[in-house]
Amino acid sequence: MSAISTAVFFHAHPDDEALLTAGTMAMLAAQGHRVVLVVATAGERGLADLAPGEALGEARMSELYRSAALLGCARVVKLGYADSGLGSAGGVADDRPDDAFIDADTEEAAQRLAEVLKEESADLVTIYDPAGGYGHPDHVQVHRVGRRAAEIAGTPIVLEATVDRDLLLRALRLAGRFYTFPPEFDLRTFERAYSPGEAITHRVSVRRFARQKRASMAAHASQATGGDGDRTLGMMLKIPGPLYRLIFGTEWYVRRDVPLGTRLKHPFDNPPRA
Ligand SMILES: [Zn+2]
Repeated sequence: MSAISTAVFFHAHPDDEALLTAGTMAMLAAQGHRVVLVVATAGERGLADLAPGEALGEARMSELYRSAALLGCARVVKLGYADSGLGSAGGVADDRPDDAFIDADTEEAAQRLAEVLKEESADLVTIYDPAGGYGHPDHVQVHRVGRRAAEIAGTPIVLEATVDRDLLLRALRLAGRFYTFPPEFDLRTFERAYSPGEAITHRVSVRRFARQKRASMAAHASQATGGDGDRTLGMMLKIPGPLYRLIFGTEWYVRRDVPLGTRLKHPFDNPPRA
């Protein structure tokens, strides 16, 4: 690839970028591309030792800026919605604030993101799969809003950041034979999460950027240590060492406008012409 391109990574909360796309971001930045990180919310309802609220939102935004700097981001944008939080049963929280991202008008929120995509003349935007990964309402909303924003701005490449569910389940079942997961680690939560292997179009090797990815995760200290351990970051950091490279050495994306079965290795790659 010769030209410098611009990639916008759209995430729901600070720390989502560390888990799903940090390696790709570090790779693109190292290749000289412009990498922009957009978050819908400040994640102020995350679980942490700090009480939910403004102070937590500020702490999580500082963690996000640190992570973004480590990954080589040129710009960080927050759309300014409130974190919708997660209900006790895993769905939408009843006590969510008025301006919760999940309640935002899709068209209005998409306009805000589309402004950024246009300003940046983005060549690519990442969103989430329709299930919103493990199903957080704000993540489902990222899918809807992100897809519409790309339409409005005419962004040519839309990638759904996801995890190869089959690989993840295989790895976790294997690990379960010699490793006792903490009681809150429920394997079944992954059975319908993310995307099946056959739907994945991009497998991006980020092993060379594993150090930066780990550092990005570690920058989100409030989410790795606080709360009751139900957050994904806390769970992921409990995955035993040997599995870490397997699970975090690759990042997965689904591009819907290429034929099923397409196998690409770089976010900007286009499918071979038929
Ligand atoms: Zn999130």
